[in-house]
Amino acid sequence: MSFKVPRGTQDILPGEVEKWQKVEGVMRHLTNVYRYPEIRTPMFESTELFQRGVGDSTDIVQKEMYTFEDRGGRSMTLRPEGTASISRAYVEHKMFGNPDQPVKVSYLGPMFRYERSQKGRYRQFVQFGVEAIGSKDPAIDAEVIELAMRVYQESGLKHLKLVINSLGDQEVRQAHRQALIDHFAPHIGEFCSDCQKRLEQNPLRILDCKVDAENPLTASAPKLTDYLNEESATYFEQVKMYLDALGIDYVVDPNLVRGLDYYNHTTFEIMSTAEGFGAITTLCGGGRYNGLVEEIGGPESPGIGFAMSIERLLLALEAEEVTLDTEDALDLYIVTMDDAAKLKAVEFASSFRARGISADIDYAGRKMKAQMKAANRLEAKYVMVLGSSELEEQAVNIKNMETGDQEKVPFHDVVNYLLTHKQ
Ligand code: ATP
Ligand code: MG
Repeated sequence: MSFKVPRGTQDILPGEVEKWQKVEGVMRHLTNVYRYPEIRTPMFESTELFQRGVGDSTDIVQKEMYTFEDRGGRSMTLRPEGTASISRAYVEHKMFGNPDQPVKVSYLGPMFRYERSQKGRYRQFVQFGVEAIGSKDPAIDAEVIELAMRVYQESGLKHLKLVINSLGDQEVRQAHRQALIDHFAPHIGEFCSDCQKRLEQNPLRILDCKVDAENPLTASAPKLTDYLNEESATYFEQVKMYLDALGIDYVVDPNLVRGLDYYNHTTFEIMSTAEGFGAITTLCGGGRYNGLVEEIGGPESPGIGFAMSIERLLLALEAEEVTLDTEDALDLYIVTMDDAAKLKAVEFASSFRARGISADIDYAGRKMKAQMKAANRLEAKYVMVLGSSELEEQAVNIKNMETGDQEKVPFHDVVNYLLTHKQ
């Protein structure tokens, strides 16, 4: 019998995982300087939280959730996204009572969606995201967008496009909804079965349909931006004003509606414009969700956030041929000649590691020549060979593998020698 990873999931092996750690480092650094400390919520929640928090008419809730009944008969779902859980935590821990609003948090972890797997689309993927809950200041929208852009820029991407739109408020969406129904209803037979359901449930989502994207009625549909009331229009202008002040370029796309039901006002996506990135060009999606916290039982607490997957960020880095500087070099390999030397090597390795010097030794009983080859394969910066004469002399030659230089160092000086030379 042979086993394989489940479809849509992947093993991330040493050699590849360093790239993940590198970009995660960029994210951790930025969430620190922007003050979005990490929050960790469970990997599964009650199904109803996502039905309410993500929205019943979304693709996520309708066909992508990993839902199961636990042994107590409760319906639970592996989290498909982060915002619903964080909003739940915000309410559950009464963070709305915190004197400093908005509450700003970030998260980094796996999400689960039963999707048709393809390049850039997985069933388990890792999302990094932030949320700022408890403020409807347009300046926070701009801050959140800037933070997302910085993640990509500081990871080394150059070919980026920021697309923004406003979905307006409840009143705007109601008026626009009716206009959409009037527009699509006479021709709905030409659309896919999902869109036929969307017409009544949430006609806005027809604009986001991947199947009917090319239908000319989609392009000619009434634009939300034409329906913005004064308050929504002013809010959108202010967001743009802050983006301009931050020197962030953007394109306004009136058809950008995004997949989640709870979005309103600001919505945005960051795309890769790199050639060869493939069909899926969206790296990051985000937006404002005033009303979500109330939907799940909290007081009025307007929020904004974004989510991006590490998988797509790494694909974009590949498309732009950016090499990440992953600095995982091995400082020292200890080659041993016999059992007595091995005993000393084990002791040495322990004391080096205690001082932060990375060290490795042979555990496969290989001959010295094979050990030297291993040291080369591992790209050790230094190699020392321990044998009976070294033990007798209590000194060892340390070889710099890059320059080929060797120096004899007494045992008691080896740690200091490596600490001063290893950089
Ligand atoms: P798409 O239109 O690509 O399906 P979405 O609207 O479902 O995206 P969101 O739910 O907003 O995406 O998720 C935000 C980000 O998470 C996406 O921009 C993308 O970077 C990432 N993402 C979403 N689904 C997947 C997936 N199945 N595999 C990898 N990354 C994903
Ligand atoms: Mg999706």
